[in-house]
Amino acid sequence: MPASSSQKPYRVGRSRTGLGLFATKPIKKGTKIIRYFGPLLDSKKKDEDAIENKYLFELTNRWTIDGSIRENVARYINHACRPNAESDVKPRKRKVFIRAIKDIEPGDEINYDYGTDYFKAYLKPIGCKCDACEKKRKKKRAEARAERLRLKEKAERKAKREAEKLAEMRARQRKASAKKAAKANGKLGNGNTSNGAALNGNGLNGKALNSKALNSKALNGKHLNGHSLTAAAGKRVAPLKRGAARVLQA
Ligand SMILES: [Zn+2]
Repeated sequence: MPASSSQKPYRVGRSRTGLGLFATKPIKKGTKIIRYFGPLLDSKKKDEDAIENKYLFELTNRWTIDGSIRENVARYINHACRPNAESDVKPRKRKVFIRAIKDIEPGDEINYDYGTDYFKAYLKPIGCKCDACEKKRKKKRAEARAERLRLKEKAERKAKREAEKLAEMRARQRKASAKKAAKANGKLGNGNTSNGAALNGNGLNGKALNSKALNSKALNGKHLNGHSLTAAAGKRVAPLKRGAARVLQA
């Protein structure tokens, strides 16, 4: 191992999810990068079948590689939904190799697809952190942000329109009530005249009263006339009578 360590095209380094395996040299597509290895577990043996960790690599129904040992550097390789490497499984040899499926550049993180079972059991519940899924999430977040912004702008435009409508309505109302007030003032003028008419009516009433008074006067007049007539008649008739009598006498 130490003799070939300088020839290894990879190193362990920090990745998004903790540690990962990174290329230190260009790796051509199709190249075996590293072997995934560890003790073989026999599912027919109860104690071996009971072993549970995240580094188990199932070769067949019976055999599983326990890759959790420190020496298995390949265990640092993270899962990716669109990987640049794959696990090349040799069930009969009970061996697994990680092989490049793309040209990998120095600095690139090496990854392979862990498979559906692992994905469902470990990655889906916490959300896959691979580049493809992060990109998808980033895109979704950007779309959600754009949608929120669109809705916010729509709401703002609506609020602005409503405010404008309200302002317009209030202006119309003010205009209308100003018109009404102007009309009402005009009516009040008429009202004054009608009040004047009423006053006139009062005047008429007054007239009526006057006429009543006149009537009473008339009555008085009649009365007076009656009196005067009697008085005058008496007075007038008498001198006339006296005169006549006097004339007649003379
Ligand atoms: Zn993913």
